[in-house]
Amino acid sequence: MKTVYNFNAGPAALPTYALERAQEEMLNYKESGMSVMELSHRSSTYEAVHNHAKAQLRTLMAVPDDYEILFLQGGASLQFAMLPLNFLSEEKTASYILTGSWSEKALKEAKLIGSTHVAASGKEKNYTRIPSTSELTFAANEAYVHLTSNNTIFGTQWKEFPDTSSPLIADMSSDILSRKVNVRQFAMIYAGAQKNLGPSGLTVSIIRHDLLEQTRSNVPSILSYNTHSESNSLYNTPPTFAIYMLGHVLDWMASVGGMDEIERRNEEKAALIYKAMDESSGFYHGHARPDSRSRMNITFTLPTKELTEMFLHEASEAGFVGLNGHRSVGGCRASAYNAVPYEACAALQAFMTDFRKRNSN
Ligand SMILES: *Cc1c(COP(=O)(O)O)cnc(C)c1O
Repeated sequence: MKTVYNFNAGPAALPTYALERAQEEMLNYKESGMSVMELSHRSSTYEAVHNHAKAQLRTLMAVPDDYEILFLQGGASLQFAMLPLNFLSEEKTASYILTGSWSEKALKEAKLIGSTHVAASGKEKNYTRIPSTSELTFAANEAYVHLTSNNTIFGTQWKEFPDTSSPLIADMSSDILSRKVNVRQFAMIYAGAQKNLGPSGLTVSIIRHDLLEQTRSNVPSILSYNTHSESNSLYNTPPTFAIYMLGHVLDWMASVGGMDEIERRNEEKAALIYKAMDESSGFYHGHARPDSRSRMNITFTLPTKELTEMFLHEASEAGFVGLNGHRSVGGCRASAYNAVPYEACAALQAFMTDFRKRNSN
């Protein structure tokens, strides 16, 4: 098999461990005579898969008992709409901290439903940094404050989260379980699975009970958080295979040492690539200000458009996949999610250094 270094932004690399377990079990899951995909979602065999993934997530992330874990569909994008539908009542205002395209999209949905407030925006500086706590302004009678913990497209990431008096809700799609997070700081955390958790088709939402209780009653059943929490996320057919894969991915994380080890690895991996940038005397120009750098998505450009294109072309020849920047910002982006191995990041570091030596004078 050809060696590829998968730096895709999402769907993204999965741990070999998880893929191998799935392969072993593909044709005959636990002596059921069929694959997991063919099981009834009402069967006890499937229910065990479902509850295992949920329990393993609770353990790894240290999710307290007064938080519900939900398995939903529709991606993080559906959460953008469900948040205001469920929690933004007429007399309240929802605050959004804008740190990139995904925060903007989340705000856009809330505006359709009710009153909103922008607590801070990095748009003028082309989203090169995360705002400091002192820059945030809040609204009166807030329903919640929304932020994006890691900005997948621009390559910035919150280091410390703000203390807010109203419920804090975070879109963690591109850095969930990449580092230790104190769940208690949030009323709700949500993430599409396809970056750090498993295949696409599954969204994980973690919601504190007191926020769940505030769900508005005039929301269609399928869009109401209450519906899903009351039915253990089995109101309708869930994405069973994606949940099964999530279980394997979480087992892998536990097997390598849990969050301490995962966080250590991610720090080490990102440092390799940032080192190649920092030693390049500006040949590789990072988009993010150093204090706001993401460990998950590393964004940079080369001195000219031609060099950027040549870099991407040669990298592709050398087996690097997914290094093109998002279509809205251009340049290059290396997404070094949990499942991207150290060796891939070391290979990219070496490639970047070699390419620079050959092409700068
Ligand atoms: C990828 C991504 C999304 C969009 O996720 P979908 O599952 O495609 O809806 C939203 N927010 C962030 C931070 C992302 O990285």
